[in-house]
Amino acid sequence: MKFELIPQDQMSPQFLFYIIIAILIIDFAIDKFINHLNAKHFDDKIPSELTDVYSEKEYFKSQAYKKENYRFSLFKSLFTMLLTLLFFMFKGFAWVDSVSRSYSDNEIIIALIFFGIIMIGSDILGTPFSYYHTFIIEEKYGFNKSSKRLFLADKLKGLLLSAAIGGGILAIIIWFYQMTGETFWIYTWLFIGVFTIFVTMFYSSLIVPLFNKQSPLEEGELKDAIFDFSKKTDFTLDNIYVIDGSKRSTKANAYFSGFGARKRIVLYDTLINDLNTEEIVAVLAHEIGHYKKKHVFINMILSLVVTGITLYLFSLFIDNAILSKALSVNIPSFHIGLITFGILYSPISEITGIFMNIISRKFEYQADDFAKNEFNGSALVSSLKKLSKNSLSNLTPHKANVFIHYSHPTLLQRVKNLNS
Ligand SMILES: [Zn+2]
Repeated sequence: MKFELIPQDQMSPQFLFYIIIAILIIDFAIDKFINHLNAKHFDDKIPSELTDVYSEKEYFKSQAYKKENYRFSLFKSLFTMLLTLLFFMFKGFAWVDSVSRSYSDNEIIIALIFFGIIMIGSDILGTPFSYYHTFIIEEKYGFNKSSKRLFLADKLKGLLLSAAIGGGILAIIIWFYQMTGETFWIYTWLFIGVFTIFVTMFYSSLIVPLFNKQSPLEEGELKDAIFDFSKKTDFTLDNIYVIDGSKRSTKANAYFSGFGARKRIVLYDTLINDLNTEEIVAVLAHEIGHYKKKHVFINMILSLVVTGITLYLFSLFIDNAILSKALSVNIPSFHIGLITFGILYSPISEITGIFMNIISRKFEYQADDFAKNEFNGSALVSSLKKLSKNSLSNLTPHKANVFIHYSHPTLLQRVKNLNS
């Protein structure tokens, strides 16, 4: 006897279709409501701890910037939602499925064509929006440094990369499914685990060079200060790189990648321009704090556990023909099952996302504390303020928005913690 999670005689495909539409609409409505709440607090008084972030002129600029971004994202999401609903109503997936089937009898090839069409279609619809965001909004506020040629090259490289990596992974997973049936999830899980470790280790040497130039940090005061600090905290650091982020945007950043002997710290050239030596070392101290507190490792384990649970749940549903019928597709298939499951699962993944953000914000406090205790809290405060100023950040986000969407505590929370 076979265990069925959804008994087919008790739920009609029609009913499942309505559940899917309901999930899409409710998810959209909640998201818009949170954004609306957040926008209502755009004009709140700046907390006293942060009054030195903006001059009056910069403050007005930041107000205009966040309002413009809010209107833009509202329009974009309304447009996307409308098209998505129409696509579902007019049996878009069934149509793409039959087009894909007209080219091949092989389930793997069909799935690749299917997702290829979906991906290219949504990319074509999304491109005018990202073009407008980069060349109209970011340009207007002085952030954009990208040229149209670079924008196009990024777009093409991104598409090719996701076709190669996404297509490869999809083909392997469907092959596992064909070979092993329901237990495919275990092999898929192992495969994704190995792949994640591989990408974490080689991200900087394989993916980043496709988009950016990285060069070792040159000798001098900054490098000496960084090495002094890393020696003091017993952190072996052989790789500090500078990345040419300035070719796309004036916004600054720094990150940590890889582990073991392959770990490296990457500084945006914009960060080096904006901050002084003391402030940069404070940012690095924060990044080293993440490493020392094993956050990189814990995050990887957590995401593997979440992936395992998701794949297991998917394996319980995948054989059920109702997943395909709900989208008016008569021939059940892995790729249609994946789409339906993805939507049914989205409320759960929203919740795990919130949970991951809570953990992430905890980790950020810990990394800040590390920088405060081992280096200098006030240098980190002034670097965080400068970075917020230079990206025209919203200093008064709404609590609900922070709770759901923020992977970092707010600037105010971080400053309070660092000053305490
Ligand atoms: Zn951090």
